[in-house]
Amino acid sequence: MHDLRKGAACHDNWQRPLRDLRISVTDRCNLRCAYCMPGEVFGRDFVFLRHAELLSFEEILRVVQQCVALGVRKIRLSGGEPLLRHGIERLIEMLAKLNASDGKPVELAMTSNGTLLAKKARALKDAGLMRLNISLDALDEAIFRRMSGSSAAPATVLEGIAAAQNVGLAPVKVNAVIKRGINEGEILPLIRRFRHTGVIMRFIEYMDVGNTNGWRLDDVVTSSETLAKISALYPLAPLDAHGPNEVAERWAYQDGGGEIGVISSVTQAFCRTCSRLRLSTDGKLYTCLFATEGVDLRTALRAPSTDGAALRQRVAATWHCRSDRYSQLRHEMTERLPGRIEMSYIGG
Ligand code: SAM
Ligand code: SF4
Ligand code: SF4
Repeated sequence: MHDLRKGAACHDNWQRPLRDLRISVTDRCNLRCAYCMPGEVFGRDFVFLRHAELLSFEEILRVVQQCVALGVRKIRLSGGEPLLRHGIERLIEMLAKLNASDGKPVELAMTSNGTLLAKKARALKDAGLMRLNISLDALDEAIFRRMSGSSAAPATVLEGIAAAQNVGLAPVKVNAVIKRGINEGEILPLIRRFRHTGVIMRFIEYMDVGNTNGWRLDDVVTSSETLAKISALYPLAPLDAHGPNEVAERWAYQDGGGEIGVISSVTQAFCRTCSRLRLSTDGKLYTCLFATEGVDLRTALRAPSTDGAALRQRVAATWHCRSDRYSQLRHEMTERLPGRIEMSYIGG
């Protein structure tokens, strides 16, 4: 039996505490990034979840309350594109009232593609959102369209970034996934665009998530390549990690131009300190981004007999059984695993 007192740390099989919760609030998206939801797969015939299948905001809140009681300190809303979920500000308001077991407010963050942000930034900030990561893979219009599988323009995302900064959602982090032969030429333009602006530009190694993106190791531009390219023009100095669960390696421009980061999801596994649980749009818990199966909570949530303690027991048991370390083991794997879950469904 696990210790289920409020605030008692909940550990998995590798003694990793439960600290972060990532919630996918919708499986839909208005972009079709080739590395995430390629248009050939997520086309007109693709069947997305029906509204009744999604967790309601009240159901999400009930799960979050129990996760917080078990040690979660940080929540990130993701998707799909979270700004497509109708009334998302209401969920933010509900979650922003929560305190972590250490008494501090739960850190509330979102990852968005930024295309709908210009109009929403003020409402998100007013509702209590604290941090925002915005994805932007290219400044060049043609490359952006190719990466995002859409006719959207990078200027729209730039407007969203400016709006986020204007309402004080600082520091805004901009994330770019770099795919060899497609947008590696955008690394330096992105760097130049955001130096001295207060935006933290971060480069993510392209990962083998899901089954649909046709991932090949050759397509990965490693963080060390990216850093070499940047530091040849703009010398960098390492910065300390913010905490043990930080996934980005932080660097500062030596000339005072600000901070950048690299996320080496492929070349340096962070499984040893991975404290992240994922809640899918339809209420399944996933203990790893590369998990093949989730634990259904929705049935329990909709059963009148399930109280908070029962829900907490379910979450704790799921975390307690966890022994995932996919990235750590990736190099030993010769073949892609069948049946992995798409990132848009469990929240990247
Ligand atoms: N739609 C939002 C967005 O794009 O920011 C939130 C959901 S998206 C799944 C979350 C993050 O996952 C984005 O920064 C995206 O670039 C990243 N991502 C998706 N597929 C990826 C992959 N195959 N490798 C690395 N990062 C990926
Ligand atoms: Fe949509 Fe984000 Fe996936 Fe791109 S990365 S397809 S914006 S969910
Ligand atoms: Fe965490 Fe799984 Fe990624 Fe390892 S592979 S860092 S366990 S999500």
